[in-house]
Formats: sequence, structure tokens, C-alpha cells
Amino acid sequence: MAYHGGRAFSVLVVRPLPSTASLTALLHEVFGYTEFRGQQQAVIEHVCADADALVLMPTGGGKSLCYQVPAIARHRDARGMTVVVSPLIALMHDQVGALEEAGVHAAFLNSTLTSEQALHVEREMMSGRLVLLYAAPERVTTPRFLAQLGALYERGGLSLFAIDEAHCVSQWGHDFREDYLALNVLHERFASVPRIALTATADELTRADIIARLQLQGARVFISSFDRPNIRYHIVEKDNARLQLLRFINNEHEGDAGIVYCQSRRRVDETAVWLNGQGMTALPYHAGLDAAMRRWHQDRFLREEGVVMVATIAFGMGIDKPDVRFVAHLDLPKNIESYYQETGRAGRDGAPANAWMTYGLADVVNQRRMIDDSPAGEAFKRAQRGKLDALLALAEAYDCRRVRLLAYFGQDSRPCGNCDNCLDPPATWDATEAARKALSCMYRFHQQGGMRFGAGHLIDVLRGQATDKVAQHHHEQLSTYGIGADLIESQWRAVLRQLIALSYLRTEGEYNTLEPTPSAREVLRGEVRLQLRVVSKAPKRDRGAAAASHQDSRRREKTPPVPLDAKGLARFTALKSWRAEVAHAHNVPAYVVFHDATLAEMARTGPASLAALAGVSGVGAKKLQAYGQEILRVLAAA
Ligand code: ADP
Ligand code: ZN
Repeated sequence: MAYHGGRAFSVLVVRPLPSTASLTALLHEVFGYTEFRGQQQAVIEHVCADADALVLMPTGGGKSLCYQVPAIARHRDARGMTVVVSPLIALMHDQVGALEEAGVHAAFLNSTLTSEQALHVEREMMSGRLVLLYAAPERVTTPRFLAQLGALYERGGLSLFAIDEAHCVSQWGHDFREDYLALNVLHERFASVPRIALTATADELTRADIIARLQLQGARVFISSFDRPNIRYHIVEKDNARLQLLRFINNEHEGDAGIVYCQSRRRVDETAVWLNGQGMTALPYHAGLDAAMRRWHQDRFLREEGVVMVATIAFGMGIDKPDVRFVAHLDLPKNIESYYQETGRAGRDGAPANAWMTYGLADVVNQRRMIDDSPAGEAFKRAQRGKLDALLALAEAYDCRRVRLLAYFGQDSRPCGNCDNCLDPPATWDATEAARKALSCMYRFHQQGGMRFGAGHLIDVLRGQATDKVAQHHHEQLSTYGIGADLIESQWRAVLRQLIALSYLRTEGEYNTLEPTPSAREVLRGEVRLQLRVVSKAPKRDRGAAAASHQDSRRREKTPPVPLDAKGLARFTALKSWRAEVAHAHNVPAYVVFHDATLAEMARTGPASLAALAGVSGVGAKKLQAYGQEILRVLAAA
């Protein structure tokens, strides 16, 4: 049932609001989903009643439906077109593709269109046929576009404004867009058109800014839980980051799509080359690559199966790929906000996903250094250090990671059962004595010659190693020489990392020499106790070092999201190759045709009729009509 309803508009009709049942029916008909998630229904009913809304939902929470369902319902009700303002050009194309696949007439206007294409879209818009129009903010606020909206408005043909990524209006965030400030004009000119603003950024300052700058004082605020229950968090001590990453991917994500974040461009390039050498399809992405190369890599990530994107934080904003199965951090992010935003790109489809990070002493040192060396003011630096400390506390935590994450966003919760610490509670040890030994050794250095040393030398002295440097400085004569021989190097690194994380130590200068802070005296006096997680060596489920040392480039098959028997697997594989053809022919990513979960469900249940196929989640009326027969044929032949 294609839906391109072109009806005449009428202005003065009082229309009943769509009922809950009719909205649910619409959800099923168009998107093939059986129920709304979280606050979607409340938001949708609110907006359908002509009221403004501000929606705070985590990435993957399902924000799009919050305006797409009202847009469709209202267009069917002859209320006209919805304008979606979005800064993310890459996203518009795929969102519009997905809507058209579902039988909803949608288009976008942005700088990638030729003037001819733009004219065509404008004609569609003025005809009243268009249900949703996506437009970049700089386009929305042009006099030409405003005049066209004005003409639609006069005819009662302007239904709703959706302002996506609304935090871009706030100077507090790092995504500030000047053009967003001008969006007030929508409210001023078209006062009776309801607005819905959406963002995944939760903090209070940003929220207040959005309300003030977009004049949303009368809007109802919908705040969703920020929990992403399907994401499993792991944070491991850095040992050999690359090999750890390889083991993680080989053990848990063979053939899956994922993102690996690195701090520097060089590390991105090197890691990508190395992963390719291990038989993966890994592509680099960072601001040093030219725009065409970035677009090409992003496109492959979206369209091919099982691509690993190795990237700096330049990658990710506006990437709507629902089946990213893991996000790995090879370096420590700046703060918990970044960590949460980046890990949030995993598992948007709700299926199990992993967020994995490796971090070590050098990460702590580097991040502190970057703050210290930045040209920012002291107040800003202090705030940044505070945020880094919160992240370090998360990394060093031996209790539930999710409880800590959510607490950071002001949400109480109970141990989750789906993070490394819940699943495999780490043993802890009392490191108070060790910390005192390290600090007193540093005071001895200082008394002896006023010199400072880095972590490596300090650990050598504590462990009583006879290195050249020890001999050169006569450190074997110190009373602290060898007092820490009972601990291995990685344990000492953990102690130092923790001391830095807790600000008892800081690092200085080019060589990252260590220096106790004034509060270190509290540790020396035994006033604080230091409890550390026991450094675990290799992960338990390691399939052996062979996987790490040399990788045969055997074929990587993506595992289905549900366990399938042999018959099911054959169907799944057949459905995927059918999907690849359709996606290619329609120039859209595969997930726009059907999500993996939908194909897996078809493979598992093997529906033999259109009616049975319609019961599979993700199969809407339009897709049933367009693809139903073909799918039944593919299933029967597999
Ligand atoms: P956000 O924009 O908040 O990050 P999306 O709107 O992209 O999230 O939705 C994330 C995924 O969840 C999409 O793949 C979408 O199809 C799916 N989804 C959203 N709402 C529902 C629902 N009610 N039932 C099933 N799947 C849903
Ligand atoms: Zn947990």
C-alpha cells in the first residue's frame, strides 16, 4: 500500500486527534513494528495534539519515529508537510531512502543537490504530496525557502517542525552551529505550527540553552532513561593494545561491523593497515584524509558488511548505521560524555553489542598533558580535569560500570549484570602500602638531588633492577631501592595510574616526570586507603595466541543476531544476498531494506505466506507489497 496521498488542504476543519490505536496501527503498517518504545508514544500523542516538545533520548533510543509518526499521521489528516531540520547531510540521504522504502514520500534539500534536483524537490513540496522534507539549517533560513514555507502555511500545508540534533544551538556543546541560532524565525513566522526538538545530549546547561534559544519555554520536556541495556561495557588494562584488540574482535566479533577509535591520525592509519594485514576489512577515517576519501570510506562502512572503521573522533556524528556491533577505544576519550556518545554508536538496533576499551598509564598521562598544555583558561582546565577524573574513576572501577555511567548522568540504577565487572567481578588488593612506598621513593629522589624521574625508572628502583640509569644516579644506594620487589611491573603501573587518577601524583615536562602533589602527604600518613583491581592478564575466553600471532585470512561470515539451525542459516545467507542486490539497485545501505534482525527472524520462522511474513517485526505494508513474493521465493529455494 504505497502512500503518496495528495489531498486538498482545508484550514478550518476541526479534526479529532489520532487515537492511540490508530497510531499503533500506523506504526505497524508503515514500519512493521508492533509497539512503541519507551516514551515514543507519549511524545507522538503530545505532538499530534499541536503541542511543542523537547525530547532527550540516548542515541539509538528511537528519536526519528517521534517525528516521523506524527508527520505521517498529520499528513494523512491533510495537515500538510513536516520540515525536519538536520545538520547531518550524510544522514538525510539514508533517512529519506528508508522512508521511501517504507512507502512514505520524503525528500531532502541540501548542498549536494543540483539546482535541477532542488527545483524538483521544491515542486514536490509545493504540491502538498511531500510528507517529510529534510533540510539543512542554512537552507531553512534562506528568504527563498521561508517564502515557500509561508505559501504552504497560508494554505494550512505546514504540519510540524522537527529540529534534530537540537544541542547544535548551544555554545556549550562542541557541535555548535551558527545557523541553528536563526531557527527562531520558524517560530516567529509560523507560530501555530508545533515544534519538536530532539537531542541525545542530556546535560542541564545544554538543555536550558536549547529551551532559551529556540524559545521552547512552553514545550513539554521528555527525558528518557539514558541506559543502553544491550551494550556491554568492558574496560581492560592496556598490555599490548593491538593484540588485545585483535583478540577481542576475533573472539567476539568475527565478521561484524565495528568502530575502533584512536586518538591520533597516525595511530588510525597504522591500526587500519595492521588490521587489514590480519585479514579484516579495516578503513581509516580522520580529518587528514581528503573529503572524497572520507566519503568513500564512510559509504563502504554503511553499505558493505563487516567493515571495521578505524577513526578519530572526526567519525561518527550522524552515522545512523543500526548494526554496528562493537565500538572499541584504543585510547582514552576526553571524558564520560565523549565515551558515552562514542560507545552509543554500537547496537542502535537494540541487539547485543560491545563497548570495549583498553587504557593504561600513558593514556592518563597524555590526557592530563593535553589539558595542561591547552591554551584555555584555568577555570576551563579545572573543569576538564574534573571530567577526566570521572572517566578515570570509571576505568579503575571494580563495581558496576553502568551504575557509574548512569550516575554521572544523574540517574540511579542497580548493578546491571551486563558489564565486565558484573559478569566477572574483579579481585581487589590493598595497594595502600605500595602507594606509600612509591611516594617515599620519589621523596628520596628529590632529597638526593632534586631530580624528577618518570614511571619507568621509578618502577625499576622500587623493584631493585640494576639498570644503567640506576647506576648513573647511584639509586641502588637509596633506602627505597628494591622495597617493591614483591610486585610485578604491571602492578606498579596500576598503582601509579591510580595515584595520578586520584591526583596524588602529577606528570611534568617533556619526559613526563612524576611529581607528588601536596595531597600526597595524606597517602604517606596513611590517611587514605587505596584499593585496586587485580590486573588480569589475557581474557579468559581467548581462543589461543595463534589467532593473534598470525591470522589466516579465512572468510569471515557475519553471525546472525539469533541462533539459527542449519536450515535457518541457509535461509539467512540467501536473504542477505537477495538484500544486497536490492540495496544496490536502490542505492541505499542494506539495513534500509531490512535490518539483520528482521532477516534473521524470517530465516528462523520461515514464513510460507504473505500473511505470515507480515507478522515479522520490521515488515511494513509497503515492503510486504514490494518484496513479499520475492522473499517467499528466496525462502522456499534456500
Ligand atoms: P536515534 O535517532 O534516537 O539514535 P533511531 O530513530 O535511529 O534512534 O532508532 C534506532 C533504531 O531503533 C532504528 O533502527 C529504528 O528502526 C529502531 N526503532 C525505533 N523505534 C522502534 C520501535 N518502536 N520498535 C522497533 N524498533 C524501533
Ligand atoms: Zn554492571
